Amino acid sequence: MLANAKKIVIKIGSNTISNSKGFINEHFIKNLCEEVAFLKQKGKEVVIVTSGAKISGISAINKWSRKSDMNYKQALCAIGQVRLLNSYDKYFAEYGINIGQILLTMDDFLVDDRILNIRNTLFTLIDEGVVPIINENDTVCVKELKIGDNDTLAAHTAMIWNADLLIILSDIEGLYDKNPKEYVDAKLIEVVANIDDIDVDEGIANEFGTGGIKTKLDAARICNNYEIDMILASGKEEDVLLKLYENKLACTYFKSN
Ligand code: ADP
Repeated sequence: MLANAKKIVIKIGSNTISNSKGFINEHFIKNLCEEVAFLKQKGKEVVIVTSGAKISGISAINKWSRKSDMNYKQALCAIGQVRLLNSYDKYFAEYGINIGQILLTMDDFLVDDRILNIRNTLFTLIDEGVVPIINENDTVCVKELKIGDNDTLAAHTAMIWNADLLIILSDIEGLYDKNPKEYVDAKLIEVVANIDDIDVDEGIANEFGTGGIKTKLDAARICNNYEIDMILASGKEEDVLLKLYENKLACTYFKSN
């Protein structure tokens, strides 16, 4: 599926981009940049939607006692976003690839002019060989406007860019019939032929994650409705994109009709 797709959105979750100590996993970003460079060589076009600004911010400044207050969270994201993108920039530079930052909110997808502007920017960056890196604009978001999770943001991005495929990299191999962190007998569902048939226990997200499996299913619904395929796979797997490209990795494939 990845080998056949041309326009690919890759979403990286907070649990994927952080290590067990709660810091940004630099090795993951390095590995991802190497793999995206490989995909670009194969003629693919890639847009990245990345979480991790808050974790980066906390890693940078850990002394703020009010870091759970909303305004402090936003401030930490503002600090962390720079660090996060610096890491991407550093590792992509090894392959001569430039990146472009796009920060979006839910209301950007509700206004025609803005959609047009986002599309124009995306298409131009891609035409020029640049990798757009998207995140939610935490500075301007208030609760009601917040997309709240980058799964939905990635699905909307895939939709307005007319992507062929959305790959969500999480800390889990794919969709299970129940939460594998709670049930040892949970079974991986490898192919979802019709997202409307899916009825699983959605569980709750863990410490850094905001979306849980629910927002991944919502993303699959949005994508599949617009004839975009979706893959949910583990970003904890070394060379995950390469393995998906070679069809050597168990994951969940949400097939559009
Ligand atoms: P991310 O930060 O990558 O967006 P989340 O923590 O938000 O990740 O969501 C992934 C988590 O959803 C998994 O680690 C798992 O604990 C939980 N989950 C709950 N139910 C399921 C299920 N049926 N199949 C897979 N994961 C599930």
